[in-house]
Amino acid sequence: MSEQNKESLAWEKIVAMYRGSLQSNEDIKRMELHFPQFLSHRLQGSEFLIGVTEELQKEWFSQLYAQPLETAIRNAGLGDGITVKFVIEKPSEAAAKKVEAKPEKPKGAQAVRRTRALPSTLPLLENYTFKNFVRGPSNSFAHAAATAVAKGLGRTAYNPLFIWGGTGLGKTHLMEAIGHYVLDNNTDASVCYITSETFLNEYVNALASGGLPAFRARYRKYDLLLLDDVQFIVGKKQFQEEFFNTISHLLIYNKQVVMTSDVAPKELQLEDRLISRFQQGMVTEIESPSYETRLAILKSKMQARNREIPADILNFIAENIRSHVRAIEGALNRIVTFIDINPNIALNLEIAQHLLKDMIEEEVTIKNISPEAVIQATADHYGVTVKDIKAPGRTQSLVTPRQMAMFLACKLTTDSLPDIGKAFDRKHTTVYYGSQQIQKRLTVEPELKQAITQISSKLGRKISDVLE
Ligand code: ADP
Ligand code: MG
Repeated sequence: MSEQNKESLAWEKIVAMYRGSLQSNEDIKRMELHFPQFLSHRLQGSEFLIGVTEELQKEWFSQLYAQPLETAIRNAGLGDGITVKFVIEKPSEAAAKKVEAKPEKPKGAQAVRRTRALPSTLPLLENYTFKNFVRGPSNSFAHAAATAVAKGLGRTAYNPLFIWGGTGLGKTHLMEAIGHYVLDNNTDASVCYITSETFLNEYVNALASGGLPAFRARYRKYDLLLLDDVQFIVGKKQFQEEFFNTISHLLIYNKQVVMTSDVAPKELQLEDRLISRFQQGMVTEIESPSYETRLAILKSKMQARNREIPADILNFIAENIRSHVRAIEGALNRIVTFIDINPNIALNLEIAQHLLKDMIEEEVTIKNISPEAVIQATADHYGVTVKDIKAPGRTQSLVTPRQMAMFLACKLTTDSLPDIGKAFDRKHTTVYYGSQQIQKRLTVEPELKQAITQISSKLGRKISDVLE
């Protein structure tokens, strides 16, 4: 068998191994979209090199695929300790090296076409309207700014509008409410709601397929661009440039831009000019709701569903579930489900307390665990020191303990990513990346679950608190 055939078979095996480790359709779709963009692949010493055209692909694909492909290579029995590296290649070089007859090629090509055909705008959730948004001191400023923007599209000083705050506090709801309002009241306006991850994906695809002019033209024609979760652009320099240019272009033409993020602009570690661009408009934070707002939200959700729940139970939920609105909705859902499946039992406070016991315990314990405690427990488990975990280097043997500590800190504490980052003496993006690595490895390395069980139990938690 020729060397080239052998290599192509090995790659087939790696791809099959990786594909088999994926659990969600999203992941499979993503892979089918991205892998055909790899220009070449070859083993060189102990490095498996994958050629790509652009710096951004290199950054982005390394984050997504380097580690899982290393695992796939190992599991495919093609070598231990091989590191996967993405390298930039000129297309002509790549064409010379390209391995013929890649089996995944047609599939990939289809996926690209499918994605191109997808409209960029994601659907707005029907109930994420202003009418369904409960105002309170924690969100009144953001709400006022959002209303002003919806009514005076592109003509207010709130451009861009930047809404930030912890997860589950209503950022997406408020952003989509602007979209609904504009679509209902302004028939001419074109609206695009998109997450920054999708935006980035489209950009990477456009780069690879030479469709950049079309990509730009598409995003620059909207009257209202809603970009959700922009914390996603952190650390992606080339993309930030494109992002900046798109936003600047829209602003020059008085088009409205709204962004959300789970951290404040200054924590995003973006280029200064991007931050100052954001600050030219309006930056507003949504905070955790107060007791009164939590109660008002509960009442509004009950009304929306046409349900009635005794007041003492609503008070009980509002008092005990404090972290975020999504958790409050979760508690409410549980109660409603109970009523539905037990129509003959009269719901009382005692039953409700029992039903929500674990959620309330979680609220309490979540607050009690600090990133420091997680680092300590993880270090103990792996027989290393806290200092090792925080050390600046990239010593291979410390990568798993460190990333595991990051993963668990994200799952078990309510601290923000920047705060967790501080505990590790690292940027929050590094923590996010580290945590993602463990998440990905979990599908192929069941032994990691054992570590999670053991470390969690040291912290008084169960594995089910970590892995839903
Ligand atoms: P985020 O984008 O900040 O993570 P979401 O906008 O997805 O949060 O909100 C999470 C859930 O909480 C949604 O179901 C949303 O409708 C609800 N919610 C959040 N804040 C409010 C509010 N002030 N009034 C009514 N519902 C809210
Ligand atoms: Mg959101």
